Amino acid sequence: MSRARARSQRPVAVVGTGVIGRSWIQVFARAGRETRVYDPDPIQARRALDWLAADLADAVAQGVMSRHAERELRRRVSLHPDLPSALSGVEYVQESGPERLEVKQAIYRELDRHAARRAVLASSTSALDMTRIADGLAGASRCIVAHPVNPPHVIPAVEVLPGAATTPAVVTRTCRLLSSLGQSPVLLRKYAVGFALNRMQAALVREAIDLVESGVTDVNGVDALIRDGLGLRWALLGPFGVGHGNADGGLREYYAKYGSAYIGLMNALNPATPSFDDAMVDRLATGTEKMEGSVKKIPQILAWRDRLVRELRTLKSGDPHP
Ligand code: NAD
Repeated sequence: MSRARARSQRPVAVVGTGVIGRSWIQVFARAGRETRVYDPDPIQARRALDWLAADLADAVAQGVMSRHAERELRRRVSLHPDLPSALSGVEYVQESGPERLEVKQAIYRELDRHAARRAVLASSTSALDMTRIADGLAGASRCIVAHPVNPPHVIPAVEVLPGAATTPAVVTRTCRLLSSLGQSPVLLRKYAVGFALNRMQAALVREAIDLVESGVTDVNGVDALIRDGLGLRWALLGPFGVGHGNADGGLREYYAKYGSAYIGLMNALNPATPSFDDAMVDRLATGTEKMEGSVKKIPQILAWRDRLVRELRTLKSGDPHP
């Protein structure tokens, strides 16, 4: 982005700086946006900036970011002691506070009171309906869900979901802004519990648990089939795109050939929701620790995962979908 364009853009704010908020800080600042940061817990805010410094230092050490770019990125980020100063003059707010309806409603009352009238108030909520969060607010028309996939500075998809009062112009501005950051907004037409991404994830997790608990395979078997099977295709094509390629005549032929097999399979899936009781969690966690190592190894695994996802994204943009 040119310096002149970056200067002409108004700042953005990240409100709430936990796992998701701190990652959003990197998304905005990396794209050249002046990024105001606020969290009512100053220790948490400081921790987020420390995380940012460490993550960027790693990127410099790996040679994926220059020292100059790292300094410039950090220069764009400012910590604010209160909400009014964080929101002053911003065009967009990414709220990433706790996932409880009454807390989100209280945060949104404050955001609506202090943010400039035209500022978009976007929420990272994973499951809450903006119609309910913004209910009764004077500025409900500028409130919208922008649900990222963790962590948004590595994974680009963002589910965008307006509330009942959100104007089409706010939807357009949100999608444009997210695209300008290098994210991939996906507009949902209506609210469904869990939105779309987590519904698909929950369907798969339910089946994964059932396959292990009913003794068909073990934790490693399930993960290997995704890691070395379905997941490799899914990074390039979704379930419909995959189906389209599974028969020479495309999805029509594939469903004509295999639709009845799918009906049989879908009818055979266990519809019962797993209990998630202590014994079940212990069995699954023991298998997972055997496969992936102890929790101490998680930061190392995440750093590896994020590095390879970045490489995959670079490969995808260098050799785009034909
Ligand atoms: P988190 O618990 O790590 O962070 C929440 C942050 O909100 C904390 O820093 C806390 O100090 C701050 N906070 C508390 N009260 C606040 C207030 N009144 N105003 C502003 N900030 C306040 O949570 P998280 O995992 O980062 O999740 C944040 C949001 O992102 C949630 O809505 C969650 O559903 C959504 N989300 C989470 C994930 C995930 O995998 N963690 C993925 C996508 C979306």
